[in-house]
Amino acid sequence: MAARDGSFDGRFYYSVATTGVYCRPSCPSRQARRENVRFHATRGAAEAAGFRPCKRCKPDLASLRERHARSVAQACRLIETAEEPPALERLAGAVGLSPYHFHRVFKAVAGVTPKAYAAADRHKRVRANLKTSESVTGAIHDSGFNSSGRFYARSSEALGMTPTDFRDGGRGVEMCFAIGECSLGSILVAATGKGVAAISLGDDPEALLRELEDSFPKAKLIGGDAAFERIVAAVVGLVERPAGGFELPLDVQGTAFQHRV
Ligand SMILES: [Zn+2]
Repeated sequence: MAARDGSFDGRFYYSVATTGVYCRPSCPSRQARRENVRFHATRGAAEAAGFRPCKRCKPDLASLRERHARSVAQACRLIETAEEPPALERLAGAVGLSPYHFHRVFKAVAGVTPKAYAAADRHKRVRANLKTSESVTGAIHDSGFNSSGRFYARSSEALGMTPTDFRDGGRGVEMCFAIGECSLGSILVAATGKGVAAISLGDDPEALLRELEDSFPKAKLIGGDAAFERIVAAVVGLVERPAGGFELPLDVQGTAFQHRV
């Protein structure tokens, strides 16, 4: 195609009557005359019309972007289900890439490094476990922090309050919140003077607010603060998802997004 734009790969295909093959929009092969070119919405449609897949751009195989997104999503699941954050070599090996290449692909697709993703996932676990565990220490331990000291040192920053207040529904805590729109949908950000207490993503802004109220029934929630809303809007603008993130599952995007905030 004239533009050879990789971002259209997977959205349509084109065939060339004189060669009998069909291609991805990004195919590097010589440009065909316009009158010989036909467009097809799917691979199946191109093949049903009698065309064979091109040997250069291999439109019958998943595109590089799709394969990378799948590898990154797979690595994210490994991180999320592992007790200890897996080593880079293990993650790379699991998806069949060299550690160096894997690190680059992960960063390009998720917008954060594997290590940063693991850290964000761990904090997500602490938040969830604090609501359900018998004790604060138990919650921190169950989230994979082997010494609670390391988490405690930075916990107020990570949770926006002490783990005890967090567990206790935000008792005595004042927090500002704002809801903005980003490429992933609606985003709610709530923060105290100490740090970010909650970031959540979803389709329905009202549901996000209800979720916040349910998480912190004892906190004083302050909405409509103009200065805070401006900060949230700026943050959303800064951390908009990198170009490759489209194909990642929403929850993976959300965790990566939280880290970028
Ligand atoms: Zn081709």
